Amino acid sequence: MRRIFTRQLFSRSTSGTRQLQTEAPAGIPQALFDLLEPSPLALSVLSGAGRALVSRRPIHQGQRLFQEWPLVCVPALSKQDKICHRCLAALGNDAQSAARPEVQTDGSTHSTHALCFCTPTCYAAAMQEYLPIYLASNLQQLEDECRRTQEHFPLLAAKLICSEALTQHSPAGTSAATSTLLAGQSSPRSSLMQGIDFLSYANTPPPYPEEWVSTYSLLIHGLRTAVSGHHSDRKLSRSPDDDLSHVSASNVVSRGPAPASSEGYVREAAQWALKHADMAWYARALGRFHVNSFRVDAPEGGGSSDSLMAAALAAIAGDQNQRSGSAVYLLASMFNHSCTPNADISFPVCNSQAVFTAARDIEPGEQVCISYINADLPVDVRRQQLQFAYGFDCGCPKCMEDLGTP
Ligand SMILES: [Zn+2]
Ligand SMILES: [Zn+2]
Repeated sequence: MRRIFTRQLFSRSTSGTRQLQTEAPAGIPQALFDLLEPSPLALSVLSGAGRALVSRRPIHQGQRLFQEWPLVCVPALSKQDKICHRCLAALGNDAQSAARPEVQTDGSTHSTHALCFCTPTCYAAAMQEYLPIYLASNLQQLEDECRRTQEHFPLLAAKLICSEALTQHSPAGTSAATSTLLAGQSSPRSSLMQGIDFLSYANTPPPYPEEWVSTYSLLIHGLRTAVSGHHSDRKLSRSPDDDLSHVSASNVVSRGPAPASSEGYVREAAQWALKHADMAWYARALGRFHVNSFRVDAPEGGGSSDSLMAAALAAIAGDQNQRSGSAVYLLASMFNHSCTPNADISFPVCNSQAVFTAARDIEPGEQVCISYINADLPVDVRRQQLQFAYGFDCGCPKCMEDLGTP
């Protein structure tokens, strides 16, 4: 089955100023080699197309190219009580939830949404990967803001920095430092940010978009509660661009007990996060999320044919409510776009693990592409969306034919 909206369109914040760029990183992440090695694809550089995935041998229609867990993913905020916070699977019978501290805003106490996990195993893995610091941070205001603006990227950044920080400060005696982000992912967790850095990005130099600056402040505000227990603690002064003046220091007066496992190392990890997550880091992450995030449509019915069909119909109709969440992948981000893609994406396990298959037979040396947008739209709409979201004029055979260009 073809999923037609593979990527998500850019939000308003950087429109008009973008220029797609890639940095020449110090090295190709090991995780990328690990994903490529068993696949029939190679990473190449094509003139005019930049980085590209190219077939190394004949590929038959329907053949699996590779499968990949995301570097980072978040559930749609409207589905936080239905979707696993770690893997985006629908919650099963043995789902587990992690309550979060109550917060007090404007004198009234209210509890934040609990985070849900599909199985105790997934919950346990999340506890190793990012959850203790995520729970100890008060991200209520950040989530409220994201709910208001329908933005997922700041929450991807929050999960990313919590994962990175915990990698640096794993409690002694656990395997967290060497475990993987998600079971089955071969990349060491230490390569998470290295993987993000390797992606193409929207060039957004300072001054940063206002939405970025304000959501960044809310993220830092949240992380500070994980360090201090109450964020009026000003000992953690940071870089000069850390302007929190518009974040009220008085509207969150308490937080609940931190998880039992979280005492010293969570505080240390949060301190590490505050030190490393400066505004430039945040902009680096968001600039990459904007051009590389995939919409995940994992059917909630556990993959029955009815729910798969419903998901397919909703995807065709462009139903945003159907979206399970957003995810950023490493190897999958190397695909270029074509309006006649020769590769398809699907989520057959009904979580954020993406599977790519050949949409038709592919010759050795041929570039393998996916469609970033609904390829069934009229040519002018397609080209407008691609220019707006990714900053390029599509020169694929279908566009040339539809435009009457020989
Ligand atoms: Zn899960
Ligand atoms: Zn095209």
